[in-house]
Amino acid sequence: MPYYGYFNGAIQPVDQIGVGITDLGLLRGYGLFDYFLTYNGRPFQWDLYWARFEKSAGRMNLPLPLTKEQTYPILLDLLARSGEPNVAFRFIMTGGYAPDSISIVTPNLLMLSEPIHPVPEWQYERGIQVILDDYVRETAEVKTTDYKRVMLLHGAIQAAGAQDVLYHKDGEISELSRSNVFLVMGNRLVTPNRNILYGVTRRTILDLARDDFQIEERPVLLSELYEASEVFTTSTNKKVLPIVRIGNLPIADGQVGPVSKQLLARFMAFTGR
Ligand SMILES: *Cc1c(COP(=O)(O)O)cnc(C)c1O
Repeated sequence: MPYYGYFNGAIQPVDQIGVGITDLGLLRGYGLFDYFLTYNGRPFQWDLYWARFEKSAGRMNLPLPLTKEQTYPILLDLLARSGEPNVAFRFIMTGGYAPDSISIVTPNLLMLSEPIHPVPEWQYERGIQVILDDYVRETAEVKTTDYKRVMLLHGAIQAAGAQDVLYHKDGEISELSRSNVFLVMGNRLVTPNRNILYGVTRRTILDLARDDFQIEERPVLLSELYEASEVFTTSTNKKVLPIVRIGNLPIADGQVGPVSKQLLARFMAFTGR
């Protein structure tokens, strides 16, 4: 079955949706989005994703054309049309069409259902490698459509035999290009709390780990990677993915550790899969 999308009031197969050429997302890179999954026919952590989408829109001065209550039935309609219990949703909001190519008149809102592209299984078994990059995302707490940094680094990531990049600035780490980062230090779970996109998966893992770990949400130094027994990254699509090498530094013994595995299992149980 085709995947369906909603665009400014109409529901259509995704491949038939077109956005006009004066859209500020295209002309000025002015846009934000959110991305979430359904598990067993239900949108996972919908309240948290919607709250973030709403906050991002506010931060970008884009009035949401739909309320949460108006959006949910549309979401369920798109899900039903896909014929699948497990799909991805991408909500995209741009500055809309601008006659003078700068003023915001009416934002464009797109809601697309998509097939899920799971992370290859070997990455969970062996862990991933990341390169380091001296960078901090602009308006980091907003899920903007600006990923040009990682797109420019794509070649360097591949050349290093790595899968992603860890951003750091002034000796402080923040996050990967599209996911958050955690350090395991014995019984402590440490994760940066500034210059990041506040991931729903990050929040979920903190909640699931609270009873068994001492949680530290605080600025984290690059040098602390030397002390970590494990490092992992979290996102909607990656869930809990171990990182075994950062730049030239193997994390601990360079193997996937037990805490990453345990938290992944706990997360999957929480999703009901
Ligand atoms: C989406 C994203 C994350 C992870 O957020 P989730 O809600 O867990 O998917 C982290 N950092 C960046 C830059 C992102 O775009």
